[in-house]
Amino acid sequence: MKKIIIRLMVVASAFTIFLPVCVSATTLQEYIDKVNQYQNEVNEANASINRTEEEITAAQNAITAAQQDVKDIANEIVSLREEIDESNEEIKQKSLETKQIFQYYQLSQGENTYLEYIFGADSITDLVYRVSIVEQLTEYNEQVTKELEELIENNKQKEKDLNKKTKELEKKQEDLKVQIQKLEGQVVDLQEGAVKASDQLKIYQEQVNYYRKQGCKPSDRIGVDCAKDNVAAGWYRPTVRGNISQWVGWTSVNLDGFHYGTDIWSDRGRSEKIYPIASGTISAITKDVYGALIVIIYHTDMNGKKWTSLYCHLSAYNPNIYVGMKVTPNTYIGYMGDTGYAFGVHLHLEVADCRLYDATDRNCSTWNKWTKYIKKRYNNGFRGAKTLLKLPSSWSSR
Ligand SMILES: [Zn+2]
Repeated sequence: MKKIIIRLMVVASAFTIFLPVCVSATTLQEYIDKVNQYQNEVNEANASINRTEEEITAAQNAITAAQQDVKDIANEIVSLREEIDESNEEIKQKSLETKQIFQYYQLSQGENTYLEYIFGADSITDLVYRVSIVEQLTEYNEQVTKELEELIENNKQKEKDLNKKTKELEKKQEDLKVQIQKLEGQVVDLQEGAVKASDQLKIYQEQVNYYRKQGCKPSDRIGVDCAKDNVAAGWYRPTVRGNISQWVGWTSVNLDGFHYGTDIWSDRGRSEKIYPIASGTISAITKDVYGALIVIIYHTDMNGKKWTSLYCHLSAYNPNIYVGMKVTPNTYIGYMGDTGYAFGVHLHLEVADCRLYDATDRNCSTWNKWTKYIKKRYNNGFRGAKTLLKLPSSWSSR
């Protein structure tokens, strides 16, 4: 029994591996989901931008508050210093007063005025009285002076504390400025993300609108249940990740001096999937004389114009594709490779507004005509995939 279960599991896992994942055509709902996905991304990016901008405003307000605090502290320090000056003045006065007390009680000239005054008492009562008067007055002045000195000390300490606080506030302002810079950087990134997402949103929204006009319902498989003519409603990048290594045009690299396609490589190499650049019908799955694996797809655009796209050097085909198969930009046709005449793993993508190998197409019925036509179109300003779709020198999404 256990053996049987293991065998079943092996069979099941074999199926999981080899069962086609993407045989069924894309439904309109999948496009609607994409629209919603990118709409959410745009919304989230905008919400993040708003949140970040609020943080920036808060940080700016905190800086303004800190600046006000620094100003208040400076004023406080000024008044503390004024108090110190006043106290010093008062101390001077008190010491003057003390001197005056002595002068007041000075009964004769000489150095021992104080003692002479005290001992000049004519009775014990008078002596005690005189001693206490002088003591009280001098003690009082000493007390006042002591209090004033304490006040000065306190004010000096306060000034020290306030200076420390000022430094802290200045540090805080610096930190806030750094934070604002960081947040502003985040806003820029978020805005870039929002732009990318809204570009994608626009592409998918156009698709949804187009297929709805074609009478497609969300559950309809595009090209199967509706829009059976499988019109190319938009042009897409042939890989999720890609980098351009050569554009269409005159070159010294090729033997005949012209490069007929766009060369794309990926850091994922042979595991990079190749997708049709638009909806269409597979017209050939073939090899060239050098052994390069090739897929050719016919397209008809919304204006009824006929196109061919050609994907060369594939390492493997999607085993589920077949000639005559209706494909969408989401049906992968194979993997990037270096089969045939190729220096390194890449996709060589050719595209032109004619039907390659179609006997009724006078421009492109043969390979020779096709290459001549691509050159002719190049001289008219057509640059292949670069003309049809947004193709930067490097990308990481379709
Ligand atoms: Zn090439």
